[in-house]
Amino acid sequence: MSAISIIQGDITQLAVDAIVNAANESLTGGGGVDGAIHRAAGPGLLEECRKLNGCPTGEAKITGGYHLPAPHVIHTVGPVWQGGAQGEEALLESCYRKSLQLAADHELKTIAFPAISTGVYGYPFEAAAKAAIRTVRAFLDQPSSLTEVVFVLYGTPDYKQFMEIYGDT
Ligand code: ADP
Repeated sequence: MSAISIIQGDITQLAVDAIVNAANESLTGGGGVDGAIHRAAGPGLLEECRKLNGCPTGEAKITGGYHLPAPHVIHTVGPVWQGGAQGEEALLESCYRKSLQLAADHELKTIAFPAISTGVYGYPFEAAAKAAIRTVRAFLDQPSSLTEVVFVLYGTPDYKQFMEIYGDT
């Protein structure tokens, strides 16, 4: 059995098996949730990331969690929103699917996602939330090691909107 939960908060505080980072292709840190994760994890994370030679958009790579409560970080690179005709939806779905698959390949049970691409990358929130929910549900329909997937929304408006979309889909 596996469950989806939705919380408001700071993903860096969560003691799940893996937190997902909305990274950029260089994997050398950035702003938003990426910056918060690197700050909370400490310099060991950047050191390990530097050895990974980046990550293409829509793909995912795993590292340790260093000083984070979560023992693993799964770095995925969401698409930059360019109007929707550049394959953004398929790439965003791929971020969720590949992150979940990587977690399952490592026999992890619990994973938390931020709202990938909805910050600096500009993906419209509602469309991003629907893609996230759809992809996670489809993945959890098949047997895997995962028992819990947590969607973490940073601000109250995002949390409220995500809850509404979740209830409607
Ligand atoms: P992207 O470049 O993929 O758009 P951002 O980091 O700019 O990534 O934003 C992705 C989402 O992460 C946004 O909804 C933002 O509000 C949220 N976010 C920022 N900091 C945190 C945090 N500490 N925990 C959870 N979510 C966060």
